[in-house]
Amino acid sequence: MAADCLFCKIINKELPATIIDENDDVVVLKDIAPKAPVHYLVIPKKHIKDIQSIQKEDANLVAKILFMVQKISKKLPGSQAFRLIVNNGSDVGQSVFHMHWHFLSGKKMQDF
Ligand code: AMP
Ligand code: ZN
Repeated sequence: MAADCLFCKIINKELPATIIDENDDVVVLKDIAPKAPVHYLVIPKKHIKDIQSIQKEDANLVAKILFMVQKISKKLPGSQAFRLIVNNGSDVGQSVFHMHWHFLSGKKMQDF
């Protein structure tokens, strides 16, 4: 838990959010400003600022993030295609400095 972290407050239920799935280590919530028909944020409950801040001891947690992605992808209709994006650093658009993985689906997406 980091003071003044939006996602830590959501994880601690101090702020509301639409929770899609949750376990002891990872929470999935609806993005408040969706960029696709399905736009979720997959967030470790542990406060990790960004990818550079991941420690060796977090290896299992990173795997758990991906297994949660796999779980929510199975509930998608059709081809179950999705895109995962991590904005890492303010220069590329990171605005919440608690690492999170954008899960996007439900529309045709082009190359970057
Ligand atoms: P990023 O810009 O990659 O750091 O992503 C932060 C994301 O958090 C953005 O897509 C925002 O729309 C989203 N966001 C901000 N506040 C909330 C909130 N209270 N509940 C859900 N999503 C939020
Ligand atoms: Zn946090």
